[in-house]
Amino acid sequence: MKKRVPESGVPPAAMPSVLASPVRIKFWGTRGSIAVPGSGTLRFGGNTTCVEVRADGEMIVLDAGSGIRPLGVALDNEFGTQPIKLCLLITHAHWDHIQGLPFFRPAYNRKNEIRILGFDGAGAGFKEIMAEPMRAPFFPIAMRELSGKIDISRLSEMTFSLGKVQVHAIFVNHPGVCAGYRLFTSAGSIAFLPDHEPYEFFLHSARGNKMSPEQAKKTAADGHEALVQFLHGSDILILDAQYTDEEYQWHVGWGHGSISSVVSLAADADAKRLVLFHHDPNHDDEMVDKIVDKARMQIAQLSKSIAVEGAREGSELILS
Ligand SMILES: [Zn+2]
Ligand SMILES: [Zn+2]
Repeated sequence: MKKRVPESGVPPAAMPSVLASPVRIKFWGTRGSIAVPGSGTLRFGGNTTCVEVRADGEMIVLDAGSGIRPLGVALDNEFGTQPIKLCLLITHAHWDHIQGLPFFRPAYNRKNEIRILGFDGAGAGFKEIMAEPMRAPFFPIAMRELSGKIDISRLSEMTFSLGKVQVHAIFVNHPGVCAGYRLFTSAGSIAFLPDHEPYEFFLHSARGNKMSPEQAKKTAADGHEALVQFLHGSDILILDAQYTDEEYQWHVGWGHGSISSVVSLAADADAKRLVLFHHDPNHDDEMVDKIVDKARMQIAQLSKSIAVEGAREGSELILS
């Protein structure tokens, strides 16, 4: 595939001149759809989507699934009486990505500053979306009653900065409105697409979308190409790999990826490290091991040297 962005994937204007301290990524929630605690999910984790990134002086939290609760406890322990300042970036409004926010302890302390950013959803504004899980009768405390300094802002640009970290956004193929983000840090870039169905979906569902086979083919190819360009050269690519290839045949249109589609996207995008994410609630640790093995095998068959692993709750990755 022809490269259309610089080797590092960083636009020249954003290229940092000095390498800062290592960039740390920690997984607090790796599960898709619903939390599944239990003996079968001890290694890969049962909490839903939440990833913490510390880079270039910024603390950026990606999504607020149930994993944000233990993150809040850890931050309280770490910071003590010092203020916590962080930015929470939301990909979309599905429950597994926002439901943990009412249980995020730092939001209840007036010393802390929390910026929450995301795009409007289908038929609902971003502020409305974030306030919804805390609205009566679903929760006893309203968003406006939180003591922390909470600023909820709707994103309108696809490129923006969080301190020295440049963020690029893209809308992906998932029911409703769903964004993927790529964070450009001084130590490399991290792409985060927790929910995305491969664009080959359009080939399966051309009739439902009232497209001719030719239109469907072009839409699928254009979508894939745009995403490849967006992800090109990512140092860490965190990607929705919910289904096996067999399972995907029964879940076309459900908005999630399969092993083969994830492998081919990572390979086309020349990612350096692929992290399989959004584990299916029906998959226990043993099943996720098999999915990781299969993905590694497929990468080897393509003669690519992409490191592949399954996202494990509580684990950390370092970019330096
Ligand atoms: Zn999800
Ligand atoms: Zn979703």
